[in-house]
Amino acid sequence: MLVTLNDVLKDAQRNHYGVGLFNTINLEMARGVIEAAEELDSPVIIGTAESLTKFTPLKELSWLLRPMAEEASVPVVLHFDHGLTEPKIIEALKLGFSSIMYDCSTFPYEENVERVARMTEFAHMFGATVEGELGHVGANDNPDADVDMYTTPQEAADYAARTGIDALAVAIGTAHGEYREKPVLDLERLAEIRAAVDVPLVLHGGSGLSDEDFRNCIKGGICKVNIYTDINLAAAHAVAAYYNESRKMDRLIPEMVAAVKAATIEKMMIFGSQGKA
Ligand SMILES: [Zn+2]
Repeated sequence: MLVTLNDVLKDAQRNHYGVGLFNTINLEMARGVIEAAEELDSPVIIGTAESLTKFTPLKELSWLLRPMAEEASVPVVLHFDHGLTEPKIIEALKLGFSSIMYDCSTFPYEENVERVARMTEFAHMFGATVEGELGHVGANDNPDADVDMYTTPQEAADYAARTGIDALAVAIGTAHGEYREKPVLDLERLAEIRAAVDVPLVLHGGSGLSDEDFRNCIKGGICKVNIYTDINLAAAHAVAAYYNESRKMDRLIPEMVAAVKAATIEKMMIFGSQGKA
């Protein structure tokens, strides 16, 4: 069934587990994620990011994801991750996404507040939930140009109150994409942020963290974890591994679905969301 972030994250926050957002770009990835959630009886957040719409147009992907979310036997949030431009976010809302992120983390603080507050009011009229980001989670493949800026607890409290967001992405040492060296997570900072705000906290740049990193972050108050790179690699590796054996799409499709499903199940078990649907 299609639900919003509030329907899954409030329970996760109360009961100290994490719900994964798995970003997808095609039917095979989407099927792998939904099948994993159904098999584990886990709530799930599925979606795509604005930067990924260059591979798969948002409209076409929504034609797959929205009915799949509605027909799933478990709660599924349809989330538009890292919305960067207002027209694209509005398009996502009109296409039936039940949740959006407006990423203004590279803007000056006051502009981030002002833009996200306005978008939150608008998205709430659609019945959709909103995630904002404070501080900035940078990119591993562009570490010099896209630097991490850690979230400060005081600003987090002010930001959540003034924007009215439903979930807050925090920067505590992770980065997007594949890690070159082991990230150092600032769990002390996470605890301070958790104490300062009531809204559910979100961890970006989760692909490649250790199981222990995830457990520590979830224990420390993270209740939504974003994953893309890991399931993207799982699907691609499946194609590479089976290509010589079966050079046909109809043989490769089930392998891709199975690989994404397995990678998703692995993450859900670490996050502790199994049996929580
Ligand atoms: Zn992210």
